[in-house]
Amino acid sequence: SCMSDETRRKIAEHPCYSPEAQHKFGRLHLAVAPSCNIQCNYCDRKFDCVNESRPGVASEVLSPKNALERTEQILKQNPYISVIGIAGPGDPLDNDETFETFRFIRENFPDKTLCISTNGLLLPDRFDELQESNVETLTVTLNAIDPDIQKEIISMIYYNGEKYEGRAAAEILIENQLKGIKMAVAAGMTVKINTVLIPGINDKHIIEIAKKMNGLGVYIMNVMPLINQAAFADIVPPTDAERKAVQDACAPYVKQMKHCRQCRSDAYGLLGNDLSVEKKACGKELKTITASKK
Ligand code: SF4
Ligand code: SF4
Repeated sequence: SCMSDETRRKIAEHPCYSPEAQHKFGRLHLAVAPSCNIQCNYCDRKFDCVNESRPGVASEVLSPKNALERTEQILKQNPYISVIGIAGPGDPLDNDETFETFRFIRENFPDKTLCISTNGLLLPDRFDELQESNVETLTVTLNAIDPDIQKEIISMIYYNGEKYEGRAAAEILIENQLKGIKMAVAAGMTVKINTVLIPGINDKHIIEIAKKMNGLGVYIMNVMPLINQAAFADIVPPTDAERKAVQDACAPYVKQMKHCRQCRSDAYGLLGNDLSVEKKACGKELKTITASKK
């Protein structure tokens, strides 16, 4: 492999990219990104981005400055945290605060791995900024590479000030996702794909995504079970056995992540032992936020 020793070490110490790392190394999610530029049919925008996070009580949005303070405070008590990530509550690339936050973190904690999770729509457009931020691990939620399937999963996108729906929206999203993944692999980032398994919609198609990812040099694929809500409230989520069957079918093409915890966008600590804001004994009630702005 063409991975550098430094990259290899960082991956070995990333709790999501390496199952062995999950008991020793932690991650800190900074919820600085409320806005989102697409509408997934399984998302009602009242909670965290479902593409990376479990919706529960919505995370409180932090300003970049507050995010830095929170990082300082949490790292002091949890030095085993190796990864600082931005995963919502909306789409990180749709929020300038994401880049400002990364700049603060990089300046103050140069040893930590910076991580992002995105729907990928703005990846090509904001790629230079992402690279300047020194982001090393990137997750793209890729639910379909066929626009006729993707158009069943999203209802619209906002792109370059325009609203697109149906097949046109699906085509733009897929094109940008694939282009962005290629750019990231070429730039030496380690790329993970999140794919939401939606029975009756993309279940039989996911193997095609895996084959495509093999050719693109994606490091790992995370097949996540649908959380049925919003327009997809009536779809029965896959059983563990159904998900495992899809993972096994995809495994020959791309390494499978099997230990995802569908964390909140403000989660921190070890994957199996979350210390999110919700669990902190601060006694403060969290506000419900709405990710949509445009
Ligand atoms: Fe919701 Fe946007 Fe995340 Fe889709 S990408 S799950 S619409 S926040
Ligand atoms: Fe890792 Fe999954 Fe949690 Fe993301 S949602 S930080 S991939 S365990």
